[in-house]
Amino acid sequence: MRFQDLKSMDERLEYMEELSQRFLTRAAKIDEEGSFPFENISELKSSGYTELTLPEKFGGEAISLYDLVRFQEYIARGDGATALSIGWHMGIIQDLGEKNIWKESTFQMLCEEVKKGALINNCASEPQTGSPTRGGKPTTTAIKDGDKWILNGRKTFSTMAPVLDYFNVTATVPETGAIGYFLIPRAKAGVKIVETWDSITMRGTGSHDLVLNNVEVEEDYQVEWFEPGNKGASGWLLHIPACYLGIAQAAQSYAINFAKDYSPNSITGSIIDLPYVKQKVGEMELELLRARHFLYSVAKQWDHSSEEERNQLKPELGAVKLAVTNAAIKVVDLAMRVVGAQSLSSKNPLQRYYRDVRAGLHNPPMDDMTILLLADKAMNNSDK
Ligand SMILES: Cc1cc2nc3c(=O)[nH]c(=O)nc-3n(C[C@H](O)[C@H](O)[C@H](O)COP(=O)(O)OP(=O)(O)OC[C@H]3O[C@@H](n4cnc5c(N)ncnc54)[C@H](O)[C@@H]3O)c2cc1C
Repeated sequence: MRFQDLKSMDERLEYMEELSQRFLTRAAKIDEEGSFPFENISELKSSGYTELTLPEKFGGEAISLYDLVRFQEYIARGDGATALSIGWHMGIIQDLGEKNIWKESTFQMLCEEVKKGALINNCASEPQTGSPTRGGKPTTTAIKDGDKWILNGRKTFSTMAPVLDYFNVTATVPETGAIGYFLIPRAKAGVKIVETWDSITMRGTGSHDLVLNNVEVEEDYQVEWFEPGNKGASGWLLHIPACYLGIAQAAQSYAINFAKDYSPNSITGSIIDLPYVKQKVGEMELELLRARHFLYSVAKQWDHSSEEERNQLKPELGAVKLAVTNAAIKVVDLAMRVVGAQSLSSKNPLQRYYRDVRAGLHNPPMDDMTILLLADKAMNNSDK
């Protein structure tokens, strides 16, 4: 079955839930081994999901940001690592379709490839730059040689490296200091993946290092110039909070089911009826409700805004990421308090959720930058 054959969002979400349930059955093993969810990604491709954000003029549906974040939350309920991984691809394609920054023929080529199952991610992080959102310059270099660019460098955190077909890499032109994105097909000579991903969180994202050794890039594949740390509002990054919200929802569901079944012999019935447990379940629900309303209302606002209005949404988008991610961390903590020490067993999914939600703090934008942005917004408003 393909998403494209299902007409209503309800039917589509039902199908995504089916896929997500399958992802859940594989999540523990992938996390334990630190391997990659090849089967999940392959099922998302054959379901047509990875094509849904393609623009209509290149054969896609250009689904809304609101629909995208709903799908992403569902995927994360089954497996956070799969959601974060595919979220980059889905969001990047949506963003490129909306912003029209690339040369049309290059983007059309990429869209044709995506229809055949190709996947893309941005590779912008390096040990020397830290988070690229802070304005660090890439040490990866791009040097012009006739009508080609020659790229050399090393990228860290290249999520989905085991299956990516295109790496959209940032590099600095040493002569001019200009910084740009360069689209690199996986098959290019000099492209190498070094399997460095040893994180305790999001172990199934395959976020390895990408090493570029004299990689030749055609002129048309130099796709964008930009100023580091000065990217505009990026609605598509809401796939990140959607991921952590999905993990938190899975934690709450697990805790409730556990509490319904767990019946220590010091009480009659199960712990679900204890006031302490009910209180925690209610607190989790409050966090989830608040997070979901915030995420989905800002996603809708993005969908219904003009380009100019969207540019003003950067503080709101950052606030959603900060609020939802921190709420998700709190929900997983509460779920573990309900379940007790069993939540710490390596066989228990809560310990995986506990490690996975922490990654949200280190995905963009970072909390401290969002708080500063919000302060600027508030202070500018008070000047008016
Ligand atoms: C699971 C996961 C998947 C990821 N996937 C991708 C991906 O697909 N592509 C990609 O490009 N990246 C990816 N990243 C990398 C991510 O975007 C960040 O680059 C990375 O997490 C490093 O961020 P950091 O905040 O730890 O680094 P840093 O920016 O080095 O921050 C470390 C510490 O130093 C402080 N600090 C550093 N510089 C400054 C400054 N200028 N001002 C104030 N404080 C500063 C910070 O406050 C922080 O406390 C991923 C990260 C994770 C965790």
